[in-house]
Amino acid sequence: MEINEAKAALTALQAKLSAYNHATALIYYDGVTTAPRGTAANRGQTLSILSEESYRLSTSPETLELLEFLDAHPEDLDEQEKRIVFLALKSVREMKKIPLDEYVAYQQLVVEAEDVWHTAKEKSDFAMFAPYLEKIFETNRRFAGYCAPEKDPYDYWLDQYEDGLDRAQCDAFFSALRSRIVPLLQKIAARPQVDDACLYGSFDEQAQHKFSLALMKLMGLDLDHCGLGTTEHPFTISLGSHHDVRITTNFKADCLASSMYSVIHEGGHALYDMNSDDSMAYTLLDGGVSMGIHESQSRFYENLLGRSRAFVETVYPHMTEAFPGLAAYTPEQIWRAVNRVEPSLIRTEADEVTYCLHVMVRYELEKRIMAGELAVADLPAEWNRLYREYLGVEVPNDREGVLQDSHWAGGMIGYFPSYALGSAYGAQLLAKMKETVDVDACLRKGDFAPINAWNREHIWQYGCLRKPDELLTAALGGAFDPSYYTEYLEHKFGEIYGI
Ligand code: ZN
Repeated sequence: MEINEAKAALTALQAKLSAYNHATALIYYDGVTTAPRGTAANRGQTLSILSEESYRLSTSPETLELLEFLDAHPEDLDEQEKRIVFLALKSVREMKKIPLDEYVAYQQLVVEAEDVWHTAKEKSDFAMFAPYLEKIFETNRRFAGYCAPEKDPYDYWLDQYEDGLDRAQCDAFFSALRSRIVPLLQKIAARPQVDDACLYGSFDEQAQHKFSLALMKLMGLDLDHCGLGTTEHPFTISLGSHHDVRITTNFKADCLASSMYSVIHEGGHALYDMNSDDSMAYTLLDGGVSMGIHESQSRFYENLLGRSRAFVETVYPHMTEAFPGLAAYTPEQIWRAVNRVEPSLIRTEADEVTYCLHVMVRYELEKRIMAGELAVADLPAEWNRLYREYLGVEVPNDREGVLQDSHWAGGMIGYFPSYALGSAYGAQLLAKMKETVDVDACLRKGDFAPINAWNREHIWQYGCLRKPDELLTAALGGAFDPSYYTEYLEHKFGEIYGI
């Protein structure tokens, strides 16, 4: 084989895999946005064929031969090609350890599980969803055993979402957070509560949609390449490449902040995905490198920027134009309202102080189920017990409890810790950014360009080129330190609650 021939074959292979991913993602997107209720099995049929084709192509002897040939000629590869070959070989070698029929069956299982989860959540009926969830956990354990028999199965999945992460790191990280967040929360609880009545009322859906588009434009999203849809659970997805990214939200007629901050959060994911270097389109390097880094960007826009005083002042005219009733309140009142701290039931609507406690509940439960210490059938009772212990709230039903998130139904076990890690990464990234960018002045002017340029230069452009820890260390100019995050929380909420 000639080296140039091999490189051309690698490009063609990635383009084909991108096409399969494009089709799969679009079918998924359709399923959760506009497809009629009874069509899940139909999509499952097509998705199982596509995933089988994609699996065969990725793991064929020709593909393996090609990748091994390129791997043996590192002197002829540039930095991007080396990383692509490394990632592809790692993935092929792992995939080949999973029997094809089990892989395809799992793809079908999660499509059906998501469908059942929707109905189970609506009916608040965990028993209906439990058999699917049992199979999902069991399959994740089994696949981890195939791919990394030497590793603990939960460590394997944590590492899949955040390269290098394991339970020991999570335990240390969460205990560092808890030691500062719990006392802060106790001090807040002893202070007079912030009034957030301005966020509740009647907010027309059309007006919310228009306001969402204004927010997306303000934060620098190119609406010719980034669409907005509505779903039960907001998310971001790339279709084929970073040239077509969709975000979704869920409009609540009685609460403005819910969709507003979902749009900003998902918009942060979209900015990251859309700003991979153009040379990475239709390659394995396109898009964000890990879930932790992804959440560092989404929660950066949602909270560190979006819930800042300067940002609320800037969006205030857009808000009052869309919802004239809000003109009865000052920007300062709205800023305080969107930062009200109160232990609650729903993670996606949690304030910044209690958010990580919601994540810790999920982490504890996943860890114990994966270790075989907790049965899926006992999950709702344990969920409710931990909410009482960590957040001091009573869970009235499974819809607002164990069934609230779609992650487990989608097969994502080990994903949740990345939300908390990302929040903490973001606070340290902001501190670093502030060394060279006057972030508050930018927000006051509604000028996201210098902020986005910093993120593009240090994070976004690299796609998957750098490992997450290398990327982060280079951007931070030093090691990750969660105390930036806890100090940020203490400072901000200390001001709001007069502590
Ligand atoms: Zn997110």
